Amino acid sequence: MNAKKRILILYTGGTIGMVPGREGYIPDSSSFRQVLRSIPDLHHPDMAEWELEQFSPLLDSSDITVREWNKIGRVIARDYDRYDGFVVLHGTDTMAYSASALSFMLENLSKPVVFTGAQIPLCQLRSDGRDNLINAMAIAASGKVHEVCLYFHGVLLRGNRATKYSSDQFAAFDSPNAPHLADVGIQIGYHESALRAPCQGPLRLTEFEEIPIGVLKVFPGIQFDLFASIMTERLRGVVLETFGAGNIPSYGHALLPIIEKAYRSGTIITVCSQCPQGTVSLGAYAVSKPLRDVGAVNGRDMTTEAAVTKLYYLFSRHLTKEEIKEQMSRDLRGELTL
Ligand code: ASP
Repeated sequence: MNAKKRILILYTGGTIGMVPGREGYIPDSSSFRQVLRSIPDLHHPDMAEWELEQFSPLLDSSDITVREWNKIGRVIARDYDRYDGFVVLHGTDTMAYSASALSFMLENLSKPVVFTGAQIPLCQLRSDGRDNLINAMAIAASGKVHEVCLYFHGVLLRGNRATKYSSDQFAAFDSPNAPHLADVGIQIGYHESALRAPCQGPLRLTEFEEIPIGVLKVFPGIQFDLFASIMTERLRGVVLETFGAGNIPSYGHALLPIIEKAYRSGTIITVCSQCPQGTVSLGAYAVSKPLRDVGAVNGRDMTTEAAVTKLYYLFSRHLTKEEIKEQMSRDLRGELTL
């Protein structure tokens, strides 16, 4: 008989373990272990062995910062040899950012790190947390997955391709530019060709530094001069959420001086699209040419979540500006289609 797999459940906070408070749902550190004890499937003979580690304090994921990403990364690196896989319970609001961040932070991964959570807390009727947790555990123990991923309501997604697209449906996440890694029904149907192979070599953790990074979403009528004051040399990287295939307004040449200022200040400009599906193609339309002319990085089909966390990662590795630009447009962890 094969030895049972060992999984570490890391509870960071989020709806899955929240309880109703006077001002709305809040995380509760005292009851979560007891809640897990009361789920029969977690004690089923076919369930992997597991241990629980809780963050202190537990957070609504709106409060997650670079510090918590580092904390998750440090726990996984510390216990990497003790467990076969890791399930990270996390609030849904910023789960896609955290899954992206960890995908970059953990280099040479050969074990699964599965993020999941819930739209309704485990302590409430009709919670989706139990199914999400039990399936995430099965995936973490399957031996099939060797990357950071996100499981939610029947779909397993690459962490750095996932995005939250519903605030009130159980099916809250998708990866519009990448195939599902698995679809879960009676069987867990893994899509072998979409899964990353296990990496060789020792795990390497790059902790993130608190780099000043911005995201600027363009919209019709945007008054670019309002943003000139933030485009200083303090801003190390900016993700521009542009229209369609990488287009920006050209009226009055308003944006160009600001983009040029950012460029002269050494800010790395990465161009992503406001469209959840499809890719940026700089130069396809005349209105995107100025971005190409100032050396903006073509973010192609990266999500904003992936672009932001990749900037954190590359800056934290103290690469040169040219190296960062080169790596931003390269596929490092399956986050971008070339
Ligand atoms: N506000 C919660 C959080 O992100 C929402 C959730 O978990 O679904 O922590």
